[in-house]
Amino acid sequence: MSDTTSKPALIVPLTQSTVGEMRSAMRQSAEAGADMVECRLDYLANPPDETDLKSLLEGNPLPVIVTYRPKRQGGRFDGDESERLKILAAAAGLGADYIDVELDVPPASRPKGPTILSHHDFAGKPADLDKIIAELEASDADVCKIVFAANGPEDALAALDLFRKSDRPMISLAMGEAGLASRILAGKFGAFGTFASLTPGEESAPGQLTIARMKNIYRWDSAGPATEVYGVIGCPVAHSMSPAIHNSAFGETGIDAVYVPLLIEPGAENFNRFMEAVAPWTDMRGLSVTIPHKENALVRVGAEKIDELSRQIGAINTIAITPDGSLSGTNTDYAAAIDALCAAMGIKRNDLSGRRVAVIGAGGVARAIVAALSHYNAETTIYNRTFTRAEKLADEFGAKAQPIDEVSEISSEIIINCTSIGMHPNVNDTPVPTDTLARVKVVFDTIYNPIQTRLLREASDAGCMTVSGVDMFVNQAVAQFEFWTGTKAPRDLMRKVVVRHLTGQEK
Ligand code: NAP
Repeated sequence: MSDTTSKPALIVPLTQSTVGEMRSAMRQSAEAGADMVECRLDYLANPPDETDLKSLLEGNPLPVIVTYRPKRQGGRFDGDESERLKILAAAAGLGADYIDVELDVPPASRPKGPTILSHHDFAGKPADLDKIIAELEASDADVCKIVFAANGPEDALAALDLFRKSDRPMISLAMGEAGLASRILAGKFGAFGTFASLTPGEESAPGQLTIARMKNIYRWDSAGPATEVYGVIGCPVAHSMSPAIHNSAFGETGIDAVYVPLLIEPGAENFNRFMEAVAPWTDMRGLSVTIPHKENALVRVGAEKIDELSRQIGAINTIAITPDGSLSGTNTDYAAAIDALCAAMGIKRNDLSGRRVAVIGAGGVARAIVAALSHYNAETTIYNRTFTRAEKLADEFGAKAQPIDEVSEISSEIIINCTSIGMHPNVNDTPVPTDTLARVKVVFDTIYNPIQTRLLREASDAGCMTVSGVDMFVNQAVAQFEFWTGTKAPRDLMRKVVVRHLTGQEK
């Protein structure tokens, strides 16, 4: 098994085009908290000589890996192989802490020195992975390294499993957005190290995060063998605010956990493949589920393990996983929306009974809200562009349906926008004419980007009480956190993180 007593190294690859720039990036990496750097000689504009190597290796602030990656292994070097190997041998002689040598270099030609023996596959998880691992482990390399493109987060778990099971120092990474977990969780599972770029744009491989994100969002410094794992499943997930929100909540409450993005392509088969790969050793305790997997999640968890309203909605956005692997789920969207509305109006959920509510939209969010409104006996009318969709939803939950053109005739007490009309970047659009707003008391826009939509601005000008999608978003995250951990969520902090993200103060 991997040595989990020594802290895995956070390694910054240096991809600058001059030796001077690389040296300066080395200093910046040390200041940013890196444990090691990797000098990617194949990124230098001019082939390096011994003088260059000396200036890279003398007096540097961090241990150095020297890599001179050939094109055949995803690098940029396409010159003479013997020259390449000579430079690596010279680097070892000049004191490089490690030289990275590719597994496809015949053993007799491999330069001598402290070696990371590596293999890269940019097409996907190699079909002969076991054979490659056996070859790496049979070598006398100091560190074994295997890197492959991820086709789904289950490949990230496969990469983690490799060093978890190995008794050799090992780096194994699944590249690309789908493989992010293999980078973030490398610390927990005792890899030799993982890579993080100094700044965005300086990545040496797809999916590499910056050192700042690894430390500030993904809790690199505090993650260890006992850290529990949570994540968000969806497609896309790259811009999800959930990792920042939940990781800061774990930090604030002192819970030893980390939350990762898990990109899963549409399709129940992809969702199920990941869920089947979640073994007890992953310590996965909870998942947020977003588009397009909320229905798949309900099927997977099983209707019998889900509350009645979530069952009626037919979709869940939250899964809890016990240490023995059993699943339970809920939909925190409906409660989040209803509670945001009731809090703003200063009423209880049961006080919704008999109130007239106009819901605009008939998609996933509208469905959750209509189900809850119907549960609390509100008189709901659904307005939707595709009228048949409005009719179907209305039939299911005892509401009325109207074509979207009838929005101007609304005379309900409450309007809830569940469409994307007015969402970034189309911030000048609105689903409701200004004249109509004068007849309404409360306007709730489920959109959270921008925080104040045109609809909310005009509703406020018309004297309506307004409810923002941010309130709903924070409520659903708070409910997820509490569903998983049983600990009171730090709501104010979570809201601050959301607002910071939405106002561009946090990248
Ligand atoms: P969805 O399932 O794709 O449904 C989209 C709805 O918007 C449908 O009713 C669609 O009408 C309507 N629509 C889209 N573009 C339109 C247009 N140009 N004109 C008229 N109608 C249009 O999406 P969803 O998941 O329900 O999300 C809906 C909204 O909820 C999004 O704006 C999102 O920002 C917001 N949301 C908020 C939260 C939160 O926590 N605050 C969470 C998730 C989502 P058709 O049926 O005719 O296509």
